[in-house]
Amino acid sequence: MTEVETVSAKQVVPEDAAVHESMADVLASRGDWRGAYEHLRAAIELQRAQPPPVPDQFRREVDRLRRERAKALEESLLDAVTTVYNRRYLDRRLDDLCGAERGSLAVALVDIDLFKNVNDTFGHLAGDQVLRRVAMLLREGLPQLGFCARYGGEEFMLVLPAVQQADAVRVAERARARIAEHPWSTLWPGLSVTISAGLAYEAESAFGDRRQVLEADHLLYAAKRAGRNRVAYRGWPDSSVIEYCP
Ligand code: GH3
Ligand code: MG
Ligand code: MG
Repeated sequence: MTEVETVSAKQVVPEDAAVHESMADVLASRGDWRGAYEHLRAAIELQRAQPPPVPDQFRREVDRLRRERAKALEESLLDAVTTVYNRRYLDRRLDDLCGAERGSLAVALVDIDLFKNVNDTFGHLAGDQVLRRVAMLLREGLPQLGFCARYGGEEFMLVLPAVQQADAVRVAERARARIAEHPWSTLWPGLSVTISAGLAYEAESAFGDRRQVLEADHLLYAAKRAGRNRVAYRGWPDSSVIEYCP
């Protein structure tokens, strides 16, 4: 008996169906029907255990659907003009931050000052360009967990979870100064842009009814009334006093 005839189906290494089939052929040609049967069984079991090969066309289609899904998800959460987060994302995150993830939270409602004048003087395309640039400047220098979203129109919201009030005021004030000091006239001669912001802080965010957003809105209008280009926030410990930066 040769060495081939003594090798049983279970001893063949590597576990490859094609090897088992060859062994079955060899053994069958020698009349070892039992050995050939064992190897054929082993080949069939291996083939059953392997996932069927995926045709290239099917693989390409799956890749395309994956890309489309990622793009649709991105588009559903980002603002088309400015590419910061959109209102849908903002509302969802605020729900989380005031529910399961409850902790300290600062929200700054930001409004571009006299933006209608920008549109009226330089045109709506220039207005869109200003919106994009303001969004970019707002996004700079945010703390790790913070984000910027477009609230609507020429209004944005800075959301700053897990920060102290003084740090939140600093972040908003730096954003205000960055925008006021930006060389806007290089974009269009004569253009200048400022923002006003109302910053509402809660040591433990729990405003299921969006009380904190209403408070930020109230403070934003205080900033406008105080002359624009400033950040308004409540004093501490006396929250009845509204303070302003600068
Ligand atoms: P205030 O300082 O009091 O906020 O004055 P304002 O002119 O900024 O406020 P107002 O509400 O009178 O005007 C807001 C303008 O923002 C009017 C609207 O046409 C413009 N706007 C809102 N969304 C867009 C946008 O997506 N693109 C452009 N170009 N303009 C927009
Ligand atoms: Mg507005
Ligand atoms: Mg405005």
